[in-house]
Amino acid sequence: MTEPTANESDSLRLFFALWPDDATRTALNRTGKWLHQHWGGRRMRADSLHLTLAFLGSTPVEQLELLLGCADRVQPKIFELILEQPGYWRHNRIGWLGATRTSPQYVELANALNATLTSAGFAVDARPHVPHVTLLRNTAGGELPHCAPVRWPINEFVLAASRTGADGSHYDVIKRWALA
Ligand code: ATP
Ligand code: MG
Repeated sequence: MTEPTANESDSLRLFFALWPDDATRTALNRTGKWLHQHWGGRRMRADSLHLTLAFLGSTPVEQLELLLGCADRVQPKIFELILEQPGYWRHNRIGWLGATRTSPQYVELANALNATLTSAGFAVDARPHVPHVTLLRNTAGGELPHCAPVRWPINEFVLAASRTGADGSHYDVIKRWALA
């Protein structure tokens, strides 16, 4: 377990996410370069690529134990996520690669996490969303180029903390949970 890093006072900006293995990270980064050629903007650093499952935002550190207990109760099964759909959002100028056909296991994992967090009193942002990995910031988007599907074997989920650095957000993985 990585200790939450310096300069946090008594709260952390937290989210649950899928964190890519090296092969998946390389494939996602390649698609990031491809989309950047089409759309411009600023590429995400390879080491920061992830897919957010549930966003908690600023959370008092005293609640960390309760939070970890929630995640312990989620028992998802291993599955594969296929990301093949490029997209962008005008309102926040983000370019991404997403999944159009989410497996039932993905939906189960996201729902189970959100349910256990909600029942413990955490306010999660549960807006319906496209499961996606942000690849570009500050992009205008454009025509949707064909993207080679990224096949991502999902065998864990993580709790991560984000902090703002001079070169954008940095994320620290706080804890990992293996899928069965
Ligand atoms: P920055 O906000 O500095 O531009 P960021 O959005 O990557 O960078 P955070 O805002 O801390 O950093 O978000 C961490 C993760 O949670 C990101 O994947 C982000 O897309 C996601 N996220 C942030 N806010 C929400 C929200 N309200 N609902 C769902 N997901 C969110
Ligand atoms: Mg943000």
